[in-house]
Amino acid sequence: MRYTAILVPGDGIGPEVAHAACGILSAAQAPIDWIECKAGIAALEAGEKELLPTSTIEAIRKHRVALKGPCTTPVGGGFSSVNVAMRKTLDLYGAVRPVRSLDGVKTRFDHVDLVVVRENTEGLYAGIENEITQGVVTSVKVATRQACLRIADFAFRYAVHRNRKKVSVFHKANIMKLSDGMFIRCAREVHDAKYPQIVYEELIIDAACMRLVQDPTRFDVLLMENLYGDVISDLCAGLVGGLGVVPGANLGEQCAIFEAVHGSAPDIAGKGIANPLAITMSAVMMLNYIAEMHDDPSVAAIATRIRMAYDRALVEGCKTRDLGGTLGTAQFAEAIIARL
Ligand code: ATP
Repeated sequence: MRYTAILVPGDGIGPEVAHAACGILSAAQAPIDWIECKAGIAALEAGEKELLPTSTIEAIRKHRVALKGPCTTPVGGGFSSVNVAMRKTLDLYGAVRPVRSLDGVKTRFDHVDLVVVRENTEGLYAGIENEITQGVVTSVKVATRQACLRIADFAFRYAVHRNRKKVSVFHKANIMKLSDGMFIRCAREVHDAKYPQIVYEELIIDAACMRLVQDPTRFDVLLMENLYGDVISDLCAGLVGGLGVVPGANLGEQCAIFEAVHGSAPDIAGKGIANPLAITMSAVMMLNYIAEMHDDPSVAAIATRIRMAYDRALVEGCKTRDLGGTLGTAQFAEAIIARL
């Protein structure tokens, strides 16, 4: 059985790391047929009128699974974020970012194994900003009970499914009493009604940050609204080696987009030095998703082979520069392929 997936290489380091990941999947004989679609600046350069072409959205809707590189949104010119627009248009309301220590990557903490669950459609990312009068602007933070309940259920379901024990909700309800207040009330409600077996806690986000950097091993699943999820994801990436090693999935009822937590890193784009591991890990998540969706253990086995190969490559000292090594993007991909 073969499966079709959309590949959106994106901008900046996106194409370099996305193609490296596809090379690894192909060497592992993953049964994926890619359809390449454009988004971001790459779409404009290809002659599209929109940063997010309808054809790309329709292709993802049709085939339900995509691997995506980061897209750049031009600053100014009235463009809103392509990454955010894609998540909203496809209603990919749940972002999942697993953050785990890698044996070959020495950091301050061993045994970090947590998952950031981020609400992907609301909060300050609703993009409602106004200049009330000259020199005075407002940004509106949107929270709906429906979306708060939905992401809470998603996080607890994820915890049960992955045999995780605890969900910690990060919030600032002491200040944002209505929006964050509703977020935690919904999480509590869902927990008490449906998932009492999961340990549940609420932490004010500033104190939570301090605890995260003091001892991240005490955390399991973290649940939070959109902006907090963005910031905490990068913080957690820093705990295990940086943005080059943290994958992600954006999940909805109809489809899923797998993408690294990092952005398009324009400072290193085109130099062949970006770490392709985060998007490769995202591709592994994609394979596991396909395996579950189609009940196909052979695809899950390929995902495991790739994971073992990159774990081994790191342990044996094959690393890109962000991890203190010397390998370029393609060389690191080759090192993984050699260990499949
Ligand atoms: P965004 O706003 O889109 O999230 P950002 O401004 O936070 O983007 P990133 O593009 O995520 O920034 O990258 C921040 C820095 O981390 C980059 O400048 C780059 O040096 C480094 N970085 C990010 N991803 C990688 C990677 N895959 N390999 C190596 N370095 C990376």
